[in-house]
Amino acid sequence: AAKRRLSGAQQYDASFDSASAQTLSLLSELRHAVEHHELRLYLQPKVPLHGQPGRAAEALVRWQHPQRGLVPPMQFIPFAEQTGFVRQLTLWMFEEVARLLADPRTQGLALRVSVNLSTRDLLDPELSTRLADILVRHGVPASAFCLEITESAIMDDPQRAEAMLNRLSEQGFKLSIDDFGTGYSSLAYLKRLPVHELKIDKSFVMGMETGEDDAMIVRSTIDLAHNLGLTVVAEGVETAAILERLRTLACDEAQGYHIARPLPVDDFLAWQEGQAHQ
Ligand code: C2E
Ligand code: CA
Ligand code: CA
Ligand code: CA
Repeated sequence: AAKRRLSGAQQYDASFDSASAQTLSLLSELRHAVEHHELRLYLQPKVPLHGQPGRAAEALVRWQHPQRGLVPPMQFIPFAEQTGFVRQLTLWMFEEVARLLADPRTQGLALRVSVNLSTRDLLDPELSTRLADILVRHGVPASAFCLEITESAIMDDPQRAEAMLNRLSEQGFKLSIDDFGTGYSSLAYLKRLPVHELKIDKSFVMGMETGEDDAMIVRSTIDLAHNLGLTVVAEGVETAAILERLRTLACDEAQGYHIARPLPVDDFLAWQEGQAHQ
């Protein structure tokens, strides 16, 4: 496909030339959002189910739009991926998390934060050096980060993804397969990747109470992960009953509204403080 160079990191397909004025205006609004600090880092706690030490959270972006209010990521991430803008968003996110990990308020928490990577990031040859640069500037280790990658992002170009994941793993980043069970990756293939964690997609976790099929998928995924020597996380835990069932099934960690919603940084730190005193 014909690719044309836009300012800095942006690239787009020729088919995009016919894009509507609305699309272009969203792109310029997104650029404006980064420059004018309208993006917000939210953190959702990820808790251990068997008393392991350390604290963890997933970093999730929100857009505090001056007119539209708090815009959820599904309203702009797909667009950001399509235009390639997501790479700037990833670096912004990574920088915010690095700043948080260097913040005196998080010292002593042994906090590990997961950051979502997109398909575009996996194809960006400069990703690993850009991330290394951010780590050095903030003086934080790669091991404090987990990078979440979906199966479909990997299967988009498996060979390039594998090379990139090997490189990120050698740098010291922990790697997680997000939305596990929704893609079409082969197990034989996943086994080759330097992955540390599987994250069971919330559609299966949320269906556990009502659907025996979903419960069976969750159970087999936990066993599979453990047989491959991986940590397994359930996302979308909305009820106490599901949390208990996951504990019984020996799932390692859980994340979901029942435990905590994604929170702004100050609220997240207050939540952690509250946990420590329970
Ligand atoms: P994801 O990576 O699968 O993130 C989990 C989503 O599930 C989050 O939605 C979270 O708020 C939501 N969630 C957590 N617990 C529950 C629960 O108990 N019930 C339900 N129904 N939902 C729950 P969110 O924050 O709206 O993000 C949606 C998606 O947008 C993310 O899905 C991810 O694909 C993307 N995204 C968010 N932030 C970023 C980012 O910084 N970079 C990239 N590349 N993608 C991001
Ligand atoms: Ca994720
Ligand atoms: Ca997910
Ligand atoms: Ca998802």
